[in-house]
Amino acid sequence: MIPKRAEVGSLLYEWNGTKEIQVEVGIRRGLPGFQILGSASVSTKESKDRIRLALEASGFQFPLETIIINLKPVHIPKRMVCLDLAMAAGILLATGQIPSPNYPIRYLGSLGLDGRILGGKELLPYLWQSSESREHSFCLPATLENEPLPKGRYQFLNHLEDLKNLPVETPNTREMEVLPSENTTWDTVYLDPYQMKVFQGLLYSLLGNHHSLLLGSPGSGKTMLHRMLESLLPPKESRDQTGQGIWTSSGEFEIPSTKRPFRSPHHSATEVGLVGGGLPFQPGEISKAYGGILYLDEALEFKDRILESLRMPMEDSYLEIVRMNEITKLKTDFTLMLSANPCPCGNYHSYQTCHCSLQKIRLYLQKISGAFLDRITIFQTLFETTNDRCIKLEELKMRIVLRDRFLFRNSRLVPENEEKKVQKILDTEQQTKQLSLRKKKQIISLARTIADWNLSSRTKEVHIWEAVEYCIGYQWIYSLG
Ligand SMILES: [Zn+2]
Repeated sequence: MIPKRAEVGSLLYEWNGTKEIQVEVGIRRGLPGFQILGSASVSTKESKDRIRLALEASGFQFPLETIIINLKPVHIPKRMVCLDLAMAAGILLATGQIPSPNYPIRYLGSLGLDGRILGGKELLPYLWQSSESREHSFCLPATLENEPLPKGRYQFLNHLEDLKNLPVETPNTREMEVLPSENTTWDTVYLDPYQMKVFQGLLYSLLGNHHSLLLGSPGSGKTMLHRMLESLLPPKESRDQTGQGIWTSSGEFEIPSTKRPFRSPHHSATEVGLVGGGLPFQPGEISKAYGGILYLDEALEFKDRILESLRMPMEDSYLEIVRMNEITKLKTDFTLMLSANPCPCGNYHSYQTCHCSLQKIRLYLQKISGAFLDRITIFQTLFETTNDRCIKLEELKMRIVLRDRFLFRNSRLVPENEEKKVQKILDTEQQTKQLSLRKKKQIISLARTIADWNLSSRTKEVHIWEAVEYCIGYQWIYSLG
């Protein structure tokens, strides 16, 4: 007797993304029994009784034969209960109780004992973080019908009985819904020339994704200047919107919106809070800042280890996480912005008296290691401010200015051999020839950003020297004493 067989698809949400799961059902004559194989957890095995009662409550026959369900790939632990629906559908297909659709379907949802199909927002990350499943059709709990979903083909079911009536042909594609971006506003601010110069540096940082560090006295406006960037972040381009989604501070998954994140964790944050970790895995601030800004105010108050853990993602755009003897690489994409006081009391170089010894200041600043500083492109200080706040900035106008710069940057063509020409200048000039290769690369990249800011398709000397000024500013730290 040939065993009855069916195979259906589903999804499994793991801490580092969504994986596709195949639910293979085999039924053969023999003593009534039900086994689930393929690293099923205790909670997955509990599905057996739910599936049986749900099938019977929906008017289907539960086969009194030997049922074996194999969850593939078998080596991945299956901790999720949302495989109920896929397993039930597999049994119904194998026993011919529902018609076999002529297009691939993925089933996602758990079952109530009365046959209702359950599942809510907790299933959204499965769909948003799945990169390969756009071609498939999904059967989902009806509660998800009014939730924002990525572009795809969906059928929403209330009850197991609805499986009898699935359309024969592939359902139409539903377009992606993107939530409108929220506005945070500062309307109009007045800056003095020192603040404006720093703000310009931060704008370069934002435009070109250059990491930046600002040392300045308390009350000089460090935090305000960074916060102003939040509402100037350009909306994500449409191709980003199939991206990863973000997590809120309470650990809930949030649908990707057109708004880029601005994350500003407190200096008491733990390493796990910043980088991610734990069991089950919780994404850290680095992941939450994906595509946006990670701003560390009072950066020198963060633990040394935390700052050092940022080094790899800053430069290589990925993060290595060791979990259960397995190293996984997470893609990262953020602009790191740091601000800090220049000395323990904060008053070094300002109008107020600083009581810190030079040795104490050096020790304090040593928290930023040379290797870390090397990865910062834009280094600025803000010690002086005046009451002459004569520069008016309007948020809406700034947004337009920035939008135009981003558009220019994304569409311009760089003249041939431009990098080589800039490199040659840096290699010969007294001020820059001793710099490390990494610093020179940063200067070349920042000079290009400054040229973009000025809507110039060519990097001019004036752009190069402005970039040099920002990039070698860190030497200030080493010049103390
Ligand atoms: Zn001081």
